[in-house]
Amino acid sequence: MTALITLTGVNKYYADYHALRDINLTINAGEFFSLLGPSGCGKTTLLRTIAGFEQVTDGVVMIGGADMAAVPANLRPTNMVFQSYAIFPHLSVAENVAFGLRKSKDIDKQTKAEMVEEALTMVGLAGYGKRAAHALSGGQRQRVALARALILKPKVLLLDEPLSALDKKMREQMQVELIRLQRQVGITFILVTHDQEEALVMSDRIAVMFEGEIGQLADPETLYRRPNSRRVASFIGKMNFLEAEVNAVSDVIAIDVEGLGPLQVSLEQAPEPVKQGPAVVGIRPETLGILFEGETTDRKLIDGVVDEVVYYGDMTYYDIRIKGISQAINIAMKNLIGRPVLEVGEAAQVIWDERALVVLN
Ligand code: ATP
Repeated sequence: MTALITLTGVNKYYADYHALRDINLTINAGEFFSLLGPSGCGKTTLLRTIAGFEQVTDGVVMIGGADMAAVPANLRPTNMVFQSYAIFPHLSVAENVAFGLRKSKDIDKQTKAEMVEEALTMVGLAGYGKRAAHALSGGQRQRVALARALILKPKVLLLDEPLSALDKKMREQMQVELIRLQRQVGITFILVTHDQEEALVMSDRIAVMFEGEIGQLADPETLYRRPNSRRVASFIGKMNFLEAEVNAVSDVIAIDVEGLGPLQVSLEQAPEPVKQGPAVVGIRPETLGILFEGETTDRKLIDGVVDEVVYYGDMTYYDIRIKGISQAINIAMKNLIGRPVLEVGEAAQVIWDERALVVLN
């Protein structure tokens, strides 16, 4: 892997508002990288800093080994696709895409036409060149915006919430297409999104941001299975939290978890080093289960009572009250053939496994 973008000690102030706090980050060539976080955490600011639309207050942005401090946005090897596609409705599709070439005066007409068609083919719009842009669907407009950004073959494509204006079905389809496109062109994509599912589906690596800082930087599976803090754990997916007390740390962690009692878990289950004393334990709803009649398990069981039922068709989410645990525990169950949907007040045997626990400070 080759580092393409390196941010070192990057800080950004808007007047006295500290929007980026000491960001240190390396993004590799050919990587699909996402900046994920709640509204206002600074992800757009970070993207615009890479693009050159914002100057850093402090720190260094390097792209391809060159310091970008004195390089204006239009001379950086980056191109940006915005949420509001910024398509010109009165122009044709081809004219919109060719707009990406407006600064390349020395390209002849024939070559231009070929480049436009090539870019349109990449985004699945081959043959659409003559159509009027205003007659396109939202998804097609976004493809035109992508083609326009890709036509100059930038090293880095910056995508600021590019799919957020699309409906769920279209968004999911475009997610798959963007992954395919990124693999095909092989350039670095940096996506800004507040949608954790989108980030998990699309990215090689994700930086989760809170209040101007990177909370965790990891691949999707590590982020989901081993979040390093309570806020990362709750931002990505659902997580139950239990109060706990770490008794000893050696080659295993000896921990007492509310409702579950004393246990031993592996060191890998603590993404950040833990020490003796109070801790929090996280458990994902789908790593727990309910033992239905006629089914068996070799995992541990604990008695509970159904407190709430939310039926999703393929899944049912249960809140289960368990003696010794202060909050009801959320459990996700697949609605397999023969499984009833339990009702509030029914008894439920909860299946659990300490290997699914994450120990957080
Ligand atoms: P969203 O998803 O809502 O766009 P974000 O994570 O992309 O959020 P940013 O747009 O980077 O967040 O903004 C980070 C913080 O900086 C916010 O509190 C925002 O109000 C502030 N901010 C952004 N741009 C400016 C500006 N030009 N002047 C002053 N404050 C700004």
